[in-house]
Amino acid sequence: MRVIMLAPPGAGKGTQGERIAARYGIPHISSGDIFRDEVARQTPLGKQLSGYLDHGDLVPDELVLSLIRDRVVAAAEKSGGYVLDGFPRTLEQAEAAAGIGRETHTSAQAVVYLDAPADVLVGRLSGRGENRADDSEAVARHRLDVYAQHTQPLVDYYAARGILVKIDAAAPVDAVSQQIFSALDRIKN
Ligand code: ADP
Repeated sequence: MRVIMLAPPGAGKGTQGERIAARYGIPHISSGDIFRDEVARQTPLGKQLSGYLDHGDLVPDELVLSLIRDRVVAAAEKSGGYVLDGFPRTLEQAEAAAGIGRETHTSAQAVVYLDAPADVLVGRLSGRGENRADDSEAVARHRLDVYAQHTQPLVDYYAARGILVKIDAAAPVDAVSQQIFSALDRIKN
């Protein structure tokens, strides 16, 4: 099972990504987690990343690809699949991901799009503000704007390719998982 998650901040991408990984026995590759880990370990890359993360700005595509590409290919080859959480996030990254998929025969089979109204997202982000530095209200709002400008266009990109699965992410978390599982089970079987 090879899945991409597409969702605005606050839609529950991380939680649902973990659940998809557990159900289908595939690695959960979260770009945000990978970046925060680099920052926490104070690696040279982490020092480059921290400014973007703190401000809720996109990390430049080249830097993203340098950290993500090998992990995606290794996951697909070793584990037979992946669930990508937070990547791709721009049209350029989507093109790069498609290229990697073609070269390594590991293209995504489904893009799970978690859709929720803006007021639900803002409410969830402010509710978890103590856990993540970039959930402060101003930065969270900026992340929603960045999403609308750079990531939202991927919805049409993947819809045009016939692999978009739209999910109502305003529903309770278990109901969202059930919607996702029934859609992915159909693809798997
Ligand atoms: P959220 O979806 O709630 O914004 P993430 O953990 O996916 O949380 O991302 C946190 C931050 O990491 C983003 O605000 C951005 O700075 C950076 N980031 C993560 N993935 C990418 C990506 N694919 N391209 C550019 N920046 C990214």
